[in-house]
Amino acid sequence: YVRLEDHTRTTSKAAVHEDDLRRTVITDDQEIPIGIEGLIGNTPLIKLRSLSEATGCEILAKAEFLNGAGNSPKDRVALSIITHAEEEGLLVPNRGDTIYEGTVGSTGISLAAVCRARGYKAHICMPSDAAIEKSDLLLKLGAIVERVKPASIVDSNQFVNLARRRAEQHTANPDLPGRGFFADQFENTANYLAHQNTTGPEIYAQTSGSLNVFVGGAGTGGTISGVALALKPLLPDLRIVLADPQGSGLYNKIKNGVLFSSTETEGTRRRHQVDSIVEGIGINRLTANFSAGMHLIDDAVKVTDEQAMMMARWLVEKEGLFVGASSCVNLVSAAVVAKKMRAEGKKDTRIVTILCDSGNRHLSKFWKEAGEVGGKDVEFTLDEILA
Ligand code: PMP
Repeated sequence: YVRLEDHTRTTSKAAVHEDDLRRTVITDDQEIPIGIEGLIGNTPLIKLRSLSEATGCEILAKAEFLNGAGNSPKDRVALSIITHAEEEGLLVPNRGDTIYEGTVGSTGISLAAVCRARGYKAHICMPSDAAIEKSDLLLKLGAIVERVKPASIVDSNQFVNLARRRAEQHTANPDLPGRGFFADQFENTANYLAHQNTTGPEIYAQTSGSLNVFVGGAGTGGTISGVALALKPLLPDLRIVLADPQGSGLYNKIKNGVLFSSTETEGTRRRHQVDSIVEGIGINRLTANFSAGMHLIDDAVKVTDEQAMMMARWLVEKEGLFVGASSCVNLVSAAVVAKKMRAEGKKDTRIVTILCDSGNRHLSKFWKEAGEVGGKDVEFTLDEILA
């Protein structure tokens, strides 16, 4: 027999999203995903042998680049944002609606793909210094792309502000079909809910609830907040560690145990760009998605660009794993935590982190640099990366 999952019986937002992961046709012995949405979520958790051996802790990583729409955890977010907006009547498929977003790439790519599958158009605003392969891919996915000069978040032409304005202009323009919708990944809480309802519970199920530390970066904060909100109530001893690239404003706040006392970090007005080759993570302001779970973060690790690049080479040569910059920041942080746990005499520590995207998306920027750092066999030890 063939049974179509019934989505209409669920009404609460959380329940709808749990159902989102079961977009499958179930036959006698197979589950056949329906469209690209059926390829989102339920990603494997893999053990990284080399890092586990070198640190003496078990290091597991969720292979989020295997999400099958835009190949990053942002697939979950795009689907969640669109589904919530549909529930609220803000988006209607095939009406000519366009989804606008300001993004360095991953979210735009996921939105562009899911938009096409769901009957919408995507219009993406991004800073002109983001890796070129991302805007190329967006164009091939049929999105409209506006690359704008990098600017401060208080500037009206900054990419996020521009996307918000473009959505408003669309809705106000009677000559354009449908409505404009600003996805707003930084402030739209459908973002962290995607991780609270899917990524977190998947990690719990895949480890049978046996894990000691979760390590994650924050770009919007959706991943770390959502996973922390899902797991901390179930595992009160779990430590949540923020992996922060150089130049990001979060590390000091977390590290000093102060967290954010106001709605902005101290450096906000002075400098908004995170000065790092790592794209996608590191922020200098407080977002709604980071705020949702920041009280659950126990510690933070700061990672330099050079450490991230050395880790990139290490992963290729020891694991055959070719990933992007933020994954490397996560893994350097995981190794730092592992070393600390060992130094404290803790045994059998299990650390879970995220592999966000493939190195293919970082060829012209991060991997160009990282390739030049290595280019030959890895001759450094893990301790040298962490030094
Ligand atoms: N890795 C990459 C490649 C990203 O693009 C992003 C987000 N923009 C993140 C990690 C961070 O995830 P989050 O937004 O959930 O904090």
